Amino acid sequence: MALGYLSAMLKSAQAGKYAIAAFNIIDYNSARAVIDGAQEMNAPIIIQLSVKTIRLWGFKPIASWVHAFAADADVPVALHLDHCKDLDVIRGCIDAGWTSVMFDGSALPFDENVARSLEAYEIAQAAGVGLEAELGAIGGTEDDKFVAEDEAILADVDECIAFCAAMPKLATFAPAFGTAHGFYKGEPKIAYDRLERITAKVDIPIALHGGTGLTEQQFERCIQSGCAKVNISTMHKQQFIDGFADLRRKEPTNNEPIPYIAAQYDAMKSGVKQMIGLFGSDGKASVTAAR
Ligand SMILES: [Zn+2]
Repeated sequence: MALGYLSAMLKSAQAGKYAIAAFNIIDYNSARAVIDGAQEMNAPIIIQLSVKTIRLWGFKPIASWVHAFAADADVPVALHLDHCKDLDVIRGCIDAGWTSVMFDGSALPFDENVARSLEAYEIAQAAGVGLEAELGAIGGTEDDKFVAEDEAILADVDECIAFCAAMPKLATFAPAFGTAHGFYKGEPKIAYDRLERITAKVDIPIALHGGTGLTEQQFERCIQSGCAKVNISTMHKQQFIDGFADLRRKEPTNNEPIPYIAAQYDAMKSGVKQMIGLFGSDGKASVTAAR
């Protein structure tokens, strides 16, 4: 089917109390593994890209892979831009065929974040694509940004309400509530009370950043509290690398590339299927609106 749209997909997930997995793909093989994993689980899926991955491959090649895979799939697939501060990259993605984008103004003071996010919102609305925006500071490392865990700032509930009121058609909202990018160093300190106070007042589906390393119970509670999109990046990157490296260790004299690509694909696809199972989106393709 044609590419799906984040807003419609996440509204279905929010209503059905499941979450759609959003994987940060790395290359063609990674995109293929994520979409095939979703297809095998009959689950909707979000393919998302970091800005540095887009700078590596270019807008058009990525869009052409994902459009082609989605066309052959029977499950809704959205193509999303992860954390971005650059409106030119946002425009480039929209022009190349992305169906949603994220503007990350979380490092800015509140008023400036609202003003800059609104600029991105207007660009996205005019193009008919979805926008994700962030408030508060999510801990850990994302691209070149590092937020120490003790500097991570939970989103303020009143600011969340004002932020979302300014952008009522936001496809998804990413308030910081204690999850972190990268591997967790200790026990994640998820502020469920904060999350629940936000979702009691804000009707926009919530995006959970920093999904790698959370337990089944933690995912379950976040999803029941309104998270409809769960980002998985670190785990997928690890499987991308380990898929190759494990085979090399096992077969040090094998110099044929294709078995390595296959091993990497299998490692990534099994991770995708595992996460879809945890998020309750398996079997949900047909009840997920794509537009
Ligand atoms: Zn993130």
